[in-house]
Amino acid sequence: MKEINIHLSPKDMPRQWYNLAADLPTPMLPPLGKDGKPITPEKLAPVFPMNLIDQEMSRERWIDIPEEVLDLLCHWRPVPLRRATGLEAYLKTPARIYYKDESISPAGSHKTNSAIPQAWYNKQFGIKRLVTETGAGQWGTALALACNMIGLECKVYMVRVSFDQKPMRKILMQIWGGHCVSSPSEYTHAGREILKKDPNTPGSLGIAISEAIEEAVSDPSGTTRYALGSVLNHVLLHQTIIGLEAKKQLEIAGEKGPDVVIGCAGGGSNFAGISFPFVADKIHGKKIEIIPVESASCPKMTRGEFAYDFGDTAEMTPLLPMNTLGHQFVPAPVHAGGLRYHGMAPLVSQAVVEGLLAPRACDQLNAYKSAMIWAKTEGMICAPETSHAIAATIDEAIKAREEGKEKVILFSYSGHGLLDLMGYDKYLTGQLEGYTLPDEELKASMEVLKKLPKAKIHKTGKW
Ligand SMILES: *Cc1c(COP(=O)(O)O)cnc(C)c1O
Repeated sequence: MKEINIHLSPKDMPRQWYNLAADLPTPMLPPLGKDGKPITPEKLAPVFPMNLIDQEMSRERWIDIPEEVLDLLCHWRPVPLRRATGLEAYLKTPARIYYKDESISPAGSHKTNSAIPQAWYNKQFGIKRLVTETGAGQWGTALALACNMIGLECKVYMVRVSFDQKPMRKILMQIWGGHCVSSPSEYTHAGREILKKDPNTPGSLGIAISEAIEEAVSDPSGTTRYALGSVLNHVLLHQTIIGLEAKKQLEIAGEKGPDVVIGCAGGGSNFAGISFPFVADKIHGKKIEIIPVESASCPKMTRGEFAYDFGDTAEMTPLLPMNTLGHQFVPAPVHAGGLRYHGMAPLVSQAVVEGLLAPRACDQLNAYKSAMIWAKTEGMICAPETSHAIAATIDEAIKAREEGKEKVILFSYSGHGLLDLMGYDKYLTGQLEGYTLPDEELKASMEVLKKLPKAKIHKTGKW
């Protein structure tokens, strides 16, 4: 019998997260306040608990995973590393393709890897309630699940179009005791102002972030905080459990290590999770091709700029040094909701600047074609975001065939698509179109960056 699933024993689960900030050959630029000065931890204290702010600012290479967090994560972790032998045979490639199956978490994606520790650290700090925003609903469901497991209240501002058109994840949040409301809402000043001006607005992630932060900072009891599902250093840190497990599992499979590592990238968290432990190896001399794959509708790494920019439309967040399209950017309504964010995590962005990563963009038609090949050869229905990683995996496997090389390809299977079947339906009925952001739109959305502080480009030139 072929070995398809490479399991890791719970006792071999990683005990520490890996922090790439300790090893980047060029230092990270600090986040800035509106006054252009580096932000202090005290400024963030009304928004996040201090223990997570410490993690956000940490330059320690290894950070212990609390025992209680491991006890919760081990309900479904370690997740299997699987070999995609069906896809390999179909492509007639000499490459061996492995993927980390993050779709088996109860919420269906990798996002639980950070939702659990975030809820735990908040609880430790005496917080009673977490507020967040969600687009298509994946982060909202993960946080609702985590709050339910840990004993916190959870409120989720869900972008109105998704709230109305994609009720499934809202139902999941409700099952786990989360309070999911349509954004903009009557609960906040920001929401009321927008509804007054435009009662029929479809809402946006930027508006939902503004509402969630406002609610968190205005609780007079001081026991409410905000939680973010991607982009920030501490979120990426929590996700490194994916790559750390994969490293041990590749060893069990008898592999020397991957030649190519691939992940789809929205805010950058699952990509960072699978790749950062291997980025460290690359910094220390290993030859590895590391590829974040973004949506061609939202191409911040391949066509955006490395600049200081706000994380949200309403300019409530600090200025972050990141690859961005400008915080006013309104992405086309492609199906991969998780890839429609204007910026890329500062840690990933700095690694791009340094030349350690080779980003590429994929349009949704190509992504769905790849998802269909995947479903037919491996049986599994992937999330629309994940299909972008699969498209790049297929390209790399074909390249290995053309070069006649036995490469090891590793990718992050960030989530399943069982609640996203409408996109597949559109594909099957020929209604799905490829979409690449036009140049004029790109130029216009980057105008806002001109009035913000410039981000210095630091790189060693080694890669
Ligand atoms: C949210 C999400 C993404 C994109 O977010 P990242 O922070 O870039 O990982 C990708 N895949 C799935 C399944 C998601 O839910």
